[in-house]
Formats: sequence, structure tokens, C-alpha cells
Amino acid sequence: MIIDLSQIQHEPKTFYLWLPEEWWEQDVPGDQIQGLYQPVDACLTIARLGKRFMVRGNLRTVLMLQCDRCMELFGRELEGEFHLFLEPVQKKQDEEEEVELAGEEMGIDLIPGEEVELEQIIKEQIYLSIPMKTLCKDDCLGLCPVCGANRNIKKCSCHLTQGHPAFQELRKLL
Ligand SMILES: [Zn+2]
Ligand SMILES: [Zn+2]
Repeated sequence: MIIDLSQIQHEPKTFYLWLPEEWWEQDVPGDQIQGLYQPVDACLTIARLGKRFMVRGNLRTVLMLQCDRCMELFGRELEGEFHLFLEPVQKKQDEEEEVELAGEEMGIDLIPGEEVELEQIIKEQIYLSIPMKTLCKDDCLGLCPVCGANRNIKKCSCHLTQGHPAFQELRKLL
């Protein structure tokens, strides 16, 4: 949903979004977020504050995450509120990078022109909501580095400390 911000004058406007599971597309393979288990339900209110716009919203979904340790997929409920500022700017091509950095520091998203895509805001907020490390559970045992078994499910009998580390690397290649 693309919103023309010039339409928002004295009265704030509220938008409702419902994004099906298929909406989510991975930016990079191996991303922590593998998809959605439930559609995104979101509501955003945009108000004009001088030359800026204040966005307040909330969203609800269930993320499909990949555990950093055991690589299994698991669901995590996400329900939260957020707010951010948008500032439309007219900028020259070569200034682009500098302007973006300055904006990030102040917690303001600079956008080219007066149009904003709400799906993009939702996507950013979803990325901001996940931790650096995603674990299916705090005490996830991860994969055995020797045989690759998921140690949450199966106890293997590999001896992890045996041999020179170089041989273990070699075994991985074989
Ligand atoms: Zn895990
Ligand atoms: Zn093993």
C-alpha cells in the first residue's frame, strides 16, 4: 500500500494492513526469518508534524525463524507497538548515502519524495524485533560438529575432543 503523504494535512490518517504469509520474501538465503506462520495484522496512524510525519503502529504475526544452533525452524509470536518519523527529502543522487546516515542517527527515516510504502515499514519493524541470535530455546544443544546430528533429538557418541583440530576440519570436508 503506497501512501501519498501530501494527502495527510491536519488530520492523522489510519491504515489497516493484512499481509498473507506469502507476502514475506527472503532478502538473503539463510536469513534468520524464513517466513511467516500467520498473516501480518497491522495498523498504522500517520500524522503530520511540520515537514515530518510521525508514524505510530502495531503489528501482530507469527514469525518462522531458523535456530542459529540447530538450524531447525520454529515459530515465534510477535506482537508489538512501534513509532518512527519520516522525513521526505529531495536529494541529489551522489548525496544519497550521506543523507541516509545522518537520518539514521536521529531515528528518522528519510524518504525520497512524498510517497511511502507501508509494507516496507512493516518489514523493517519485523527485522528490528528479532534478536541478533535466534535460538529455538535458550538451552538448545545445537548440532554435533562431527556427525551433524541434532543433539536436542538424538544423543550421538562422537568424541568431540579427540584428534588434532586440523583433522576435524578435514573430516568435515570428507
Ligand atoms: Zn535450536
Ligand atoms: Zn555426533
